[in-house]
Amino acid sequence: NMASPALLMRVVASAYSVSEKAATIVRSVMAAGDLGIVEKTGANDLQTKADRLVQMSICASLARKFPKVTIIGEEELPSDEVTDELIEDGHCEEILKKTCPAQYTGIKEEELVIWVDPLDGTKEYTEGLLDHVTVLIGIAYKGKAIAGVINQPYYNYEAGAGAVLGRTIWGVLGMGAFGFQLTEVPAGKHIIITTRSHSNTLVNDCISALNPDSVIRVGGAGNKIIQLIEGKASAYVFASPGCKKWDTCAPEAILHAVGGKITDIHGNSFQYSKDVKHMNSAGVLAALRNYDYYASRIPNTVKQSLVP
Ligand code: AMP
Ligand code: MG
Ligand code: MG
Repeated sequence: NMASPALLMRVVASAYSVSEKAATIVRSVMAAGDLGIVEKTGANDLQTKADRLVQMSICASLARKFPKVTIIGEEELPSDEVTDELIEDGHCEEILKKTCPAQYTGIKEEELVIWVDPLDGTKEYTEGLLDHVTVLIGIAYKGKAIAGVINQPYYNYEAGAGAVLGRTIWGVLGMGAFGFQLTEVPAGKHIIITTRSHSNTLVNDCISALNPDSVIRVGGAGNKIIQLIEGKASAYVFASPGCKKWDTCAPEAILHAVGGKITDIHGNSFQYSKDVKHMNSAGVLAALRNYDYYASRIPNTVKQSLVP
């Protein structure tokens, strides 16, 4: 008799399927054409019908299966009953078959915190930059991001009709990350990736100080971490508040699972306990390789401007 799979693997396996359901919602809202855009704090901080429906879908689906897990979603929504068509009760069989890392086999539901960004890169979604968009489900234990799922609903969309749209990347600390081909930027090349729609003087000054070979400006924290693990960019540098815990939890787990590192601009690790402040006030610094090279070149003036 096989022992029943560890809770963590069951949560990841379910989050995988829930993220694929989320991706179908993201695509169908766009296809229907009515985005239902609402401004939150301003014109660069938007919520669409997809953000709302996907959050309801993810949170209600995971809460049904794992009622004692704390689930924190980005969007503030009325706590209405979620309709059955938004519920996903499936799981990824392949993930369930994998062995849970020994240090996580004893985890109980009440010890997990799930951080949900139903649609990361909403600004870009509304502008038709569809491959910037991701769905992020991050899983934290003892304040640490230990597992995550990143779904990219429009992966492959430039390949045209007939191409399979979308992909799901997942990872667990101590196990690795799957659903993509791990690639490094050519040695000696310094390619910085940063925000496209939330720049300011400090963000730009910090990047200039790193003297990069090139700068890529794209939307989404999830998207930027994908570019790091696929060898498109060397470091994600964002010297500004604005990014939140749901933006970094899933990306952090996946990046750390493949040996990368993400911190705030001072080098402090992020905390993901249920009671933490949501804002990553001191920005983001991440790299798959050579994190220390970038960390050592962040100017003190930039650090002094960003209080954790
Ligand atoms: P970006 O790199 O601009 O796509 O930002 C990554 C994540 O942080 C996205 O979820 C953004 O919505 C969020 N974010 C970053 N800066 C801000 C800001 N100034 N206001 C609101 N959200 C922000
Ligand atoms: Mg986001
Ligand atoms: Mg979002």
